Amino acid sequence: MKKVEIVGGGIAGLALAGTLDPSQFHVTVHEQRTGLPAVGTTLAMWPEAQEALASLGILDAVRENSPTITGGALRSAAGMPWLSVEGQNLVGVARHTLLRLLDSAVPPTVQKRNGKVDEVPGDAYLVVAADGVHSMVRRSIWGQGCAAKLTPYLAVRGVIAEEPGSETIGEYWGRGDLFGIGPSSGGTNWYASFRSGMGPERIDVGEALAVARRRYAGHSQGIQHVLQAATPDTSLAQRIWTTPPLRRYSRDNVVLIGDAAPRHGTQPRAGRL
Ligand SMILES: Cc1cc2nc3c(=O)[nH]c(=O)nc-3n(C[C@H](O)[C@H](O)[C@H](O)COP(=O)(O)OP(=O)(O)OC[C@H]3O[C@@H](n4cnc5c(N)ncnc54)[C@H](O)[C@@H]3O)c2cc1C
Repeated sequence: MKKVEIVGGGIAGLALAGTLDPSQFHVTVHEQRTGLPAVGTTLAMWPEAQEALASLGILDAVRENSPTITGGALRSAAGMPWLSVEGQNLVGVARHTLLRLLDSAVPPTVQKRNGKVDEVPGDAYLVVAADGVHSMVRRSIWGQGCAAKLTPYLAVRGVIAEEPGSETIGEYWGRGDLFGIGPSSGGTNWYASFRSGMGPERIDVGEALAVARRRYAGHSQGIQHVLQAATPDTSLAQRIWTTPPLRRYSRDNVVLIGDAAPRHGTQPRAGRL
């Protein structure tokens, strides 16, 4: 049996743990988080992601628990549609639902260790860095030069309890800002991204919402309605981080996956967890 140590039990780490053949690999997943995220922001599952979920056997369960996103538009800040996208059949899954279902797909033979890993595990056939954009494994093996870099962008996002009007769904591009509106289970998922010096740590979500309301004051009515309805306890605010490029995603017995792999990080419209 080949020993595989996966550092990080987020989307990438759990998906890999659910895929590796238990008759060939003795897998351990290390995760520092103790519970599921409290704010249920939504991830759109595109066809490739749906294929991966199908191979893990959880696509039907994801679909049952999530709204289908049948269409939307790329819009001006005022809400005028520039380009409509219809019939993509995307699924908007809440992050905690996705994590729960991925966890259910992990075979019982996989060992789950709770706690922060401070050093790259030794004595393994394969070490998988699935520890996100601030990957300890990447910094340890490739050096501090590949530590995540702070961008000048803030991401504020959340869910509100009412469903979005179809005429508001999509992504709005303003000058130096973005705003997204889409369905989430039982409501609306939204995200905003714009330049801001707030943070980077311990950003007050109520303050970030107030800044966002001012920033988007001249934008479409749909955006302003969502921001008025947003509350700090169902919103998140974080600065965006990025990672410098590497020529290879592997070195010796260590491989980077998910957001730990440079240039694989989240888009400016999103943010880090
Ligand atoms: C608002 C938002 C919307 C997004 N929308 C989409 C979308 O629609 N579609 C899409 O495909 N992607 C989307 N993304 C991107 C997607 O969320 C990320 O790419 C994904 O979360 C990366 O997963 P990951 O497992 O690589 O990293 P993470 O989700 O960051 O997980 C890393 C895990 O490692 C753990 N960890 C870190 N360090 C250690 C350590 N030292 N010891 C133990 N555990 C550790 C962390 O606790 C965490 O659980 C979105 C992201 C955000 C924030």
